[in-house]
Amino acid sequence: MFQDQRSKKVILVAHCIFNQNAKMDKTAFYPGAATPVAELLVRSGVGVIQMPCPELGCLGLDRGVNAEEADQPFEKGNTRVVGLMKRDDVNSRCQILADSVICQVEEYRKHGFTVVGLIGVSRSPSCGVDTTWGDDREIPGNGAFIRALQEGLAQIDVTIPMAGIKVQEPEKAVRSVQSILDG
Ligand code: SF4
Repeated sequence: MFQDQRSKKVILVAHCIFNQNAKMDKTAFYPGAATPVAELLVRSGVGVIQMPCPELGCLGLDRGVNAEEADQPFEKGNTRVVGLMKRDDVNSRCQILADSVICQVEEYRKHGFTVVGLIGVSRSPSCGVDTTWGDDREIPGNGAFIRALQEGLAQIDVTIPMAGIKVQEPEKAVRSVQSILDG
């Protein structure tokens, strides 16, 4: 099966790399896709799996801010999101979103495709890889969604190379993505 033009390679990519409209208020850097990284991925011939945005899916586009919180600097907003993502009901929804990604990974692997890696977003409370957020600052660690994915992947004995990027640092981001594509 699947002996056609497809590369049989896919990559998991944080939702907002192709759609900055999903970002928390005050944190988008591009009108739509983060162009340098998006163009590299499209040109690579690897199939892009745009993962769901966990904060949009669990908290809404406005992340549920009230009128007083709306004018907070993004650092405070990010810390607020960290707390919300720990709530049991939110955590359950995040787990459902992570499970939907893991199902896709299992399907592709079952049919002999290669999942070449995962591109997350450094410093994000949810999609951070290597760095996430806490106490109004960037800290080492992975975000809530990435941790849920890692736990689910470990249960099926799958390890996927991961890189975190900041789209506001395009040259560094492109180098990190290229390194995942190169294996
Ligand atoms: S980093 Fe993750 S949670 Fe934040 S906007 Fe991007 S996809 Fe959504």
